[in-house]
Amino acid sequence: MCLFCKIANNELTANKVHENDDFVAFHDINPKAPVHVLAIPKTHVDSFNEVTPEMMADMTAFIQEVAEKVDVKESGYRVITNVGENGGQEVKHLHFHILGGARLRWGHFADADPKDFL
Ligand code: 5GP
Ligand code: ZN
Repeated sequence: MCLFCKIANNELTANKVHENDDFVAFHDINPKAPVHVLAIPKTHVDSFNEVTPEMMADMTAFIQEVAEKVDVKESGYRVITNVGENGGQEVKHLHFHILGGARLRWGHFADADPKDFL
């Protein structure tokens, strides 16, 4: 069973902020912003590549609830899902990063210089 399946099954503890029958959200162990929460489906899905539109519909509503619960809905936040090798996905269980609580940087994302590909 993968790391996030264990959190979903309460085999590993996490600092949960919101939960329903299908999804759970908890604070990231290594936060990159004052608010850094991960939202996951309780059933295992490898990545965004495998998620169904039906699950995404409910996931979207859940993420919106999380944003309200951690009080970033009005001040603003960012939702990120890393996919695969180039996306920098470390945990192979679909998760959405919800980042906020301060002005977020919009930086240089790639190892390669985008100008070299123009
Ligand atoms: P990824 O790089 O796969 O998009 O993001 C994985 C995230 O999971 C990272 O931000 C990392 O800090 C977080 N993470 C990894 N292991 C744990 C854990 O055991 N508990 C919690 N709460 N977060 C974790
Ligand atoms: Zn899993």
